[in-house]
Amino acid sequence: MPTKTAATATGHCLCKGVQYEVHGPLRPVVFCHCEMCRRTSGHFVAATACAREDLLLKSSASLQWYQSSASARRGFCAQCGASLFWDPTGEGRIAIMAGTLDSPTGLTAQGHIFAAEAGDYYHIDDGLPKSDGWGLALDVEAPG
Ligand SMILES: [Zn+2]
Ligand SMILES: [Zn+2]
Repeated sequence: MPTKTAATATGHCLCKGVQYEVHGPLRPVVFCHCEMCRRTSGHFVAATACAREDLLLKSSASLQWYQSSASARRGFCAQCGASLFWDPTGEGRIAIMAGTLDSPTGLTAQGHIFAAEAGDYYHIDDGLPKSDGWGLALDVEAPG
């Protein structure tokens, strides 16, 4: 664990049962409108990502994992219900729900993925790039 470097970001869930630090670069934020993200978050997801080894859990007292598909699991707080992580199997990256980061994050939004699965009660009209799949020519590291 690269604990000697200063944290580039910190974050926690609503009840602080899950607290984390990031010790490395974060990807720009990607909005995912896929049905799984909508159902787990209650709307759509805004996620950044970092190298798995750069994520340091300071508290995982209430952290639980839900295997949401054959290829990924989602980390959430069993106490307050916060959605925190998206962890794709076998990849070196882990996605972090941007709303759980402490401000200022210094991050910017990159675009929308799985736009075709967006709910019918809102429109994506912020001018950022959209893809109906993973698309977006997201940087290689993008898990979505
Ligand atoms: Zn919590
Ligand atoms: Zn999604």
